[in-house]
Order: sequence, then structure tokens, then C-alpha cells
Amino acid sequence: MTTHLRYAIGTAAASAAFTVFALVLAVDGRPWLGACALGSAILLACDTRRETVLHRRRLAEHHLALRRSRGETVPALDPCCLLARASKGQAHDHRCTLPEHAALSGEDL
Ligand SMILES: [Zn+2]
Repeated sequence: MTTHLRYAIGTAAASAAFTVFALVLAVDGRPWLGACALGSAILLACDTRRETVLHRRRLAEHHLALRRSRGETVPALDPCCLLARASKGQAHDHRCTLPEHAALSGEDL
């Protein structure tokens, strides 16, 4: 279980709780407070999505590093790393999956 999966589970639970809270407030005659709670639930749901994507990325990096350690020739992930996507290929971070960075890609999972 990665840290991202733990965060995703926590934010999903909080999002569900805020959704229920928003419904209770709306039924209780406080629609503005319910709308605020619903907005919080939506933000937490977006965070759940982001953390889930990062968790899947970490699993893919781990699987790639494992296959490379067995001697298989495996192409890099697309994008090769998150910094390369943010910098449009100008920079690469320590988790880069390009073959020249392969020695570092599986060390800190
Ligand atoms: Zn890269």
C-alpha cells in the first residue's frame, strides 16, 4: 500500500462524510451550509482522484523496475516522469523511467 493509496482512502471517506453532512444540512433547512459541505465533498473527491492516479503511477514504476531488475528490456512509461511532463521534457526527476535513469527508478518505492 502506497502513501497515495492511504490518502485516497482517507479523502474518499471524508468526501462521503461531507456528502452525507451536506444532505442532512439541506434537509434540515440550511441549504447554504449544505452547499458549502457539498463543495468540500467535491474538492475531496478531486483529491481522491489525483491520489489514485499517483498510486497507479507508483505501481507502474515499481512493476517496471522489477521487470528491469530481472533483465527484461522494458520501454519507459509515458510520460517518463512527472517532472518531464511538467517541464515539457526539459528536466527529469529521480523517479524517471528512461533507461539512462533506470538505476535510480526503483530505489525509493
Ligand atoms: Zn523523465
